[in-house]
Amino acid sequence: MDKEDLKRLAENPEFIQSIYNYCDRWCERCPFTSHCLNFAMDSEELGDQETHDINNEAFWQRLTETFQMTLELLHEAAEEEGIDLESIDAKEFEEQDRLNKELAKNHQCSRAAKLYSEMVDDWFDSAKDIFGHEDDEPDLEMSADMGDIDPAEEISDFGEAVEVVRWYQHLIYVKLMRAIRGELDERLEILDEFPKDSDGSAKVALIALDRSIAAWGEIRNLFPHRDNDILDILVHLEQLRRNAEKAFPEARAFIRPGFDKIDLNS
Ligand code: SF4
Repeated sequence: MDKEDLKRLAENPEFIQSIYNYCDRWCERCPFTSHCLNFAMDSEELGDQETHDINNEAFWQRLTETFQMTLELLHEAAEEEGIDLESIDAKEFEEQDRLNKELAKNHQCSRAAKLYSEMVDDWFDSAKDIFGHEDDEPDLEMSADMGDIDPAEEISDFGEAVEVVRWYQHLIYVKLMRAIRGELDERLEILDEFPKDSDGSAKVALIALDRSIAAWGEIRNLFPHRDNDILDILVHLEQLRRNAEKAFPEARAFIRPGFDKIDLNS
């Protein structure tokens, strides 16, 4: 795909502008793939099989090409708008960027999110007894009395819950970092009338937290003998969720293009 193809693709009115900026990147489960330029680019370049394989060489090749195209388009736009791309004081910018990165890393929400991702790994390492079979299906005999519950259904619920936990395990940290860094940058700008990108990122993190809490709730129901350590994780997640809501009080109200409906009464 070259620059002109990309421009043509982007002109498709079916695409919702910027939808991919505030999603969770779980394209397999996304109901908006047909409205997403990012998904269309991936599909066009790589086909379905390769799209989800981030280790695939073609993926990185495409990313490099996209980078080049983005730069070219940026230069064109800057020229049209009369923006001098050289005018930024690079040293000062780099120093501010470094400081913001440090501040973001040390923010209590990002530290808690990082710790959560480690807790998840620790839990799965310690729960190897649950995955007693070669096919990695959980050993439901390790669970409490299953009563009339259908084990096949339980395995599927467990698999889904694990998938959710694993998908969001690192994304919460990434989105919170982006939100915190964005908020630091926004302090230097006057953006009153615009929705803030930092709130959009924080909203994605909050949704990931909600879903992770629900998924751990499912796992807890299936493995009551692991109740204490799952409860520790749930308490940690809930504290993180509350702190993130305090840090970004407007985040829940952020309207994500495509995903959220605008309340016309407000
Ligand atoms: S909006 Fe949906 S299809 Fe597009 S990148 Fe995000 S998850 Fe994938």
